[in-house]
Amino acid sequence: MKTKLPLFSGIAIGVALTVGFISLVAATPTEEVSPVNAREREFYAPNSENLAPDEMRVIACGTGMPFTRMAQAAACFLVELGNGDKFIFDIGSGSAERIAALQIPYDFLDKVFIGHLHGDHFGDLGALFVGGALMGRHKPLQVWGPTGDTPELGTAYAVDHMEKMYTWDIAGRLGQTDIRGFTTKVHEFEYQKEQIIYEENGVVIRSFPAVHSIDGSVSFSLEWNGLKFVFGSDTYPNKWFIDNAKGADLVVHESFIAVPDLVAKLGLTPEAALQVGTQIHTAPEAFGKVMSLVKPRHAVAYHFFKDHDTTGPILERIRTTYDGPLSLAEDHMVWNVTKDKIRERIALVDHHTWSPPMASPAIPIDPNDRVPYSQEIKAGKLDMEDVIRPIWEEAGQALGREFEYPQN
Ligand SMILES: [Zn+2]
Ligand SMILES: [Zn+2]
Repeated sequence: MKTKLPLFSGIAIGVALTVGFISLVAATPTEEVSPVNAREREFYAPNSENLAPDEMRVIACGTGMPFTRMAQAAACFLVELGNGDKFIFDIGSGSAERIAALQIPYDFLDKVFIGHLHGDHFGDLGALFVGGALMGRHKPLQVWGPTGDTPELGTAYAVDHMEKMYTWDIAGRLGQTDIRGFTTKVHEFEYQKEQIIYEENGVVIRSFPAVHSIDGSVSFSLEWNGLKFVFGSDTYPNKWFIDNAKGADLVVHESFIAVPDLVAKLGLTPEAALQVGTQIHTAPEAFGKVMSLVKPRHAVAYHFFKDHDTTGPILERIRTTYDGPLSLAEDHMVWNVTKDKIRERIALVDHHTWSPPMASPAIPIDPNDRVPYSQEIKAGKLDMEDVIRPIWEEAGQALGREFEYPQN
């Protein structure tokens, strides 16, 4: 949502008068208004546009809060670059299905950067890990994330235990499907340092400390081809963010629900609302002050439930301290960023997607890898050969090859 409030009503009236005047003098449709010709529309349809070699596309795949809801997944921003590289920043609960809706081959979605280990910022890592592998990621899922004050508070510990959590899941897939994607590679870095954590193919990603909840939260910047994207994850306003985000092209920073709504809608006590809404997180007024210091080409506020009655108060509060270009993010908001222009749209996505095309072919399965049933469980199988064997024969006839029917 671009906000140029004082001007807007004047422009709207002007347009209305002009349209009324045209309709009086010319009854025939203009080139722009035709009963048969298509018009260019202001939305983004995934996979319908090439990315120019000098262009960055950022898609919000989660803009909400720790409380799950249909309308908004939790924190997740996808960055796509004209050189073909793609990076996921945070992977909050519910975001994996937003990513799936974009129908990007999963081999291209193997790099995740996690700013901190709250569930609303990495709760769908498991969904991307398992679902991505099943939908065509044939390589390890790589995760970059900070250390903590102890090993148990770090990203490596979290990802290692997530993999352990899926022990049964993975055992059950051996010999049944291509399991090359069911591994992770963790790149853990020290949370206290301002440092380069990724440098490849002309892309430089930096991490710098954030102030959120306990030690161990970070924010990120991504620089490529003269463009700079900055992602805050969660943080109280801090000096490192100002230093690293200054003058960047697209700057995403949290702006939490206004304190009165934390009390009214979430039932927090006033004391808890003030603490959470202004000390652990960034209040809208503080978001505005941050952006007035950063002066980005375009600011993006996220991490609030964007409803008809919460959006106004957040915007008003931000506008007390910041009057620059601004989006109040919602899921599947898209920004195309070039040196000349930043274009904001909403993606219209298909809700009934299947797996996207694979970027690398699946390898054949080896039935010998399967973990067999015990005799006790196998003994419970009903005899279905009369109805299932014809399915195997049907496949053999259709494909002109023989499929050996399983013996037990
Ligand atoms: Zn958090
Ligand atoms: Zn959060």
